[in-house]
Amino acid sequence: MPQPITIIGGNIAGLSAAYYLARKGCPVTVYESKIWDKPCGGAISIEYAHYLINKLGIDISAVNQFIPHVRFCFTNHRSVETDGLFVIISRYTLQQQLISRLQKEPNINILFKHITIKNSAPLSSQTVLATGFSGFTRQIIGKEWHKREYALTLKYTGHFRTISQNPGHLMFFDSRLKGYGWMFCNNCSHFNIGIGGLIEKNIIYEKYEEFIKMLNDRFYYDIRPDSPPDAWKIPIILNNWNTPVSFYKNGIEYIGVGDVLGLAHPVIAAGIEPAWQSGWLVGESYDRATHSIDVAQYRHLLKKNLQLTSRKPFDILISNMLRMKRFPFKDQLSYALMKLFHKKITGQIKNYPWFAMVHDGNKKTGFKADAF
Ligand SMILES: Cc1cc2nc3c(=O)[nH]c(=O)nc-3n(C[C@H](O)[C@H](O)[C@H](O)COP(=O)(O)OP(=O)(O)OC[C@H]3O[C@@H](n4cnc5c(N)ncnc54)[C@H](O)[C@@H]3O)c2cc1C
Repeated sequence: MPQPITIIGGNIAGLSAAYYLARKGCPVTVYESKIWDKPCGGAISIEYAHYLINKLGIDISAVNQFIPHVRFCFTNHRSVETDGLFVIISRYTLQQQLISRLQKEPNINILFKHITIKNSAPLSSQTVLATGFSGFTRQIIGKEWHKREYALTLKYTGHFRTISQNPGHLMFFDSRLKGYGWMFCNNCSHFNIGIGGLIEKNIIYEKYEEFIKMLNDRFYYDIRPDSPPDAWKIPIILNNWNTPVSFYKNGIEYIGVGDVLGLAHPVIAAGIEPAWQSGWLVGESYDRATHSIDVAQYRHLLKKNLQLTSRKPFDILISNMLRMKRFPFKDQLSYALMKLFHKKITGQIKNYPWFAMVHDGNKKTGFKADAF
């Protein structure tokens, strides 16, 4: 019987690693501090939602706010509208349901305990590090922590009223932000709004005021925030993905997944699906003969996967364009690109391939994924 592999962090990336390692016959022990409502827009692709429902039996209908209408807005009153791209889920409910689901698996043991360096649980010689953006991650990955860029976001919730016949989600791009803003709403007139990207701290509050004003003036959303916004960071590794995936500390090899590796999308900072994807690739890299994770294989699969998904030349081009200090007409250019390639881009988002990979891993990544 192989020794259990320890996973620290039982949210998206950690639970995915647990699920796929267990399916390979590897017992796992997951340590999670607590189930909590992580700050998040909660947008997931429709493909991932289907996967959660059909493959894992997660009751997404309980958390899914299905409003298909999305308006992509640019500066100078330009916008492009589209339908059916993503759904909004509650992170609390998703974590709770994933944990309940995985607790039924014979090879998975989930314990609620906060791990610290001094007061840690018994760790396996290879331990999966799924602790997201946290002090624990920082202690383990050391100098790599400082090489990350961050999407700095302000997030807040509240209620809205609108005279619009067709209220919908809203994504807002402004080159001065070097990022994006979002307003995701539900049928009960609740919203969650975030604004950020790779931005300069000094303009984020100014942009927050502008964003609210734009929602009111331009789109007739009468926004009533519950409280002032909270600021959060999403770690992102940008271009040439040549970063380590494992880190040694006190004789333990920690293998990173999800936010630990800065996998969120470089433009929109969506990190849920990349986190799940990386856990799956850890499972794919488990070698039954040696009872260990083949880290070189994991790194290879992850890099290949990123190049096919969120680090495609197009994503890199747009993320670089947004981040450039001096680049004339980039708002106009973003709008023109969106308008011109509207169908192609929305088609791509619809088939947002983080999950197309899991459905059809053998086709796209060149290796045979375990059948479901
Ligand atoms: C404001 C905001 C909005 C976002 N919006 C979106 C969005 O709309 N769509 C999207 O796809 N992504 C979004 N993201 C990004 C997304 O939330 C992350 O990329 C994703 O949560 C990463 O998953 P993870 O499992 O790697 O880390 P996490 O979700 O952070 O999970 C880490 C887990 O580890 C646990 N943990 C940490 N330390 C310890 C310890 N010492 N001991 C035990 N347990 C520990 C934590 O409790 C936590 O449950 C957003 C992020 C932010 C901040």
